[in-house]
Amino acid sequence: MANINTSKFADHTFDAIVIGSGISGGWAAKELCDKGLKTLVLERGRNVEHLKDYPTATKNPWDFPHRGRLSLELSEENPIASRCYAFKEDATHFFVKDKEHPYVQEKPFDWIRGYQVGGKSLLWARQTQRWSKYDFEGPARDGFAVDWPIRYDDIAPWYSYVERFVGISGNKDGVDTLPDGEFLPPWEMNVVEKAIRKRIVETYKDRHVMIGRCAHLTKPEEIHHQQGRGQCQARTLCQRGCPYGGYFSSNSSTLPWAAKTGNLTLRPDSVVHSILYDEQKGKAVGVRVVDAHTKEATEYFANIIFVNAAALNTNLILLNSTSSRFPNGLGNDNGLLGKYVAFHNYRGSLSASMDGYEDSYYYGRRPCAVMMPNFRNVHKQETDFLRGYMVFYSAGRGRSGAGPNGEQLGAAYKDALSEPGNWGIYMMMQGETIPKESNYVSLSTSEKDAWGMPLLKVSVGYDENDEKSMKDFLVQGAEMLDKAGCKNIHTNDSKQAPGLDIHEMGGVRMGRDPKTSLLNEYNQLHACKNVFVTDGACMTSTGTQNPSLTYMALTARAVDYAVSEMKKGNL
Ligand SMILES: Cc1cc2nc3c(=O)[nH]c(=O)nc-3n(C[C@H](O)[C@H](O)[C@H](O)COP(=O)(O)OP(=O)(O)OC[C@H]3O[C@@H](n4cnc5c(N)ncnc54)[C@H](O)[C@@H]3O)c2cc1C
Ligand code: SF4
Repeated sequence: MANINTSKFADHTFDAIVIGSGISGGWAAKELCDKGLKTLVLERGRNVEHLKDYPTATKNPWDFPHRGRLSLELSEENPIASRCYAFKEDATHFFVKDKEHPYVQEKPFDWIRGYQVGGKSLLWARQTQRWSKYDFEGPARDGFAVDWPIRYDDIAPWYSYVERFVGISGNKDGVDTLPDGEFLPPWEMNVVEKAIRKRIVETYKDRHVMIGRCAHLTKPEEIHHQQGRGQCQARTLCQRGCPYGGYFSSNSSTLPWAAKTGNLTLRPDSVVHSILYDEQKGKAVGVRVVDAHTKEATEYFANIIFVNAAALNTNLILLNSTSSRFPNGLGNDNGLLGKYVAFHNYRGSLSASMDGYEDSYYYGRRPCAVMMPNFRNVHKQETDFLRGYMVFYSAGRGRSGAGPNGEQLGAAYKDALSEPGNWGIYMMMQGETIPKESNYVSLSTSEKDAWGMPLLKVSVGYDENDEKSMKDFLVQGAEMLDKAGCKNIHTNDSKQAPGLDIHEMGGVRMGRDPKTSLLNEYNQLHACKNVFVTDGACMTSTGTQNPSLTYMALTARAVDYAVSEMKKGNL
């Protein structure tokens, strides 16, 4: 092969390689390094060091030329990225810009990405809920996708393990559809949220309402101090990078931890092109990397490879890893690589108002909402659509919009602005979508990016099930808000394209049978045992929960297995 720098072969050999340094890659790195493996993390984006590389973290609103909004030019240049609520003046530097990394939309798909050390862990909204036993049993019970090769009890100890390190705030609610975890003190509902909760749980015996659970240090423990992290100050400026380490990111937590072991080599600006398969050894031996700037190609070698490039990029890398043994992509004996991609349906939302409670306010900017675990089709099929949705709501007081006589100018208006306005309520869904063979990604045969990688073609859309589920949410949501005493209830279908949920999953799904899945119960490629996929690509179904906590738990579990197999000489 041309352009391969083999002169530093010895320097290029490690015990393990991790592709990607985001939420799941950071966890793979930490666990591998903690277990004594010399680990190379390859990250396509630039380096972002905790604190040092958060240029906007301590800016005031007036320090931003557009007061935090996007300039017209930036939003016109980035129609995809600017649809994401967090793509604002204070955080655009952590987002992929549309023109830099093109892809092919066979159907509309807003692919939101963060290419840098830390990946999207810098940008995420940090909501973290465990899956329940009902979620893992779902596909087998309802007859879609394939059966998960694991159950809740297999992953529960790993949730606990990850939660203690990350620091998750939450209340122990004792609800089996959203199991409790190892929680730091919870955030608090405000008076209106409590009132709505009371009326909903009194009216509906099958519905639970609880404060959100999120990766924020409400009361740091020793393990968090050891990471150099401190208490969250409730500012919700997290997408800038947190100067206190108040929320969990790879940059503030797993990567510096891994570095402290002395076993980590982090190589930013390294675009992984493909995984190298050795026909004689019958296993993967390393990766081919293209330097992000010089475009020089090189190779790195290791015993174990963890692929954590985020769901769709992991699909891309595996599809691009061809050999005579795997002409259609690494591990792709059954032709299903790239298929059964799913996501979360966020289309439905409601707004409303609540009279009264004018003597009450709340302190700070809480980084979570109130949530209701899915109550649809949990124990048996009971609607005309499969699965269900989680519901989130929050209540807050806006600014008083006008003076007592409707003034929008002058002293009376100015005085009014310093008073809180009426209570408003926002409610939204996070719906499960059903993985289908017809929702897939594949590689372009005609177009390549600047690093010689084929462009990813995305062909993922909604179906009738998603429409029915959303309509059900809008009816149920309106009824719940009405019963809770809200007024001015409005429903909305955003009609947003898939992708904007930023919870894309699948394509390299786990399963029991190598004929119908790519990965086994330890996230190991059935057909290439020393390659592990533990990001969203591995997900057999989507559940209704925010997914990243599950990626972290699956990653820690898979590393534990990989290292024990390696020590037994099986890898
Ligand atoms: C605004 C926003 C809000 C979100 N809110 C939540 C939430 O509340 N809860 C939740 O659970 N999830 C949330 N998410 C999703 C969450 O960020 C992702 O699930 C999570 O980051 C996925 O982790 P990952 O390791 O798979 O990918 P990432 O964190 O994206 O990391 C992947 C890394 O791989 C690198 N990479 C890609 N291709 C290559 C290559 N070829 N070679 C080398 N490196 C490569 C990328 O540059 C990136 O750094 C949110 C995301 C966003 C953007
Ligand atoms: S809300 Fe907490 S975690 Fe987010 S930026 Fe503020 S202090 Fe940091």
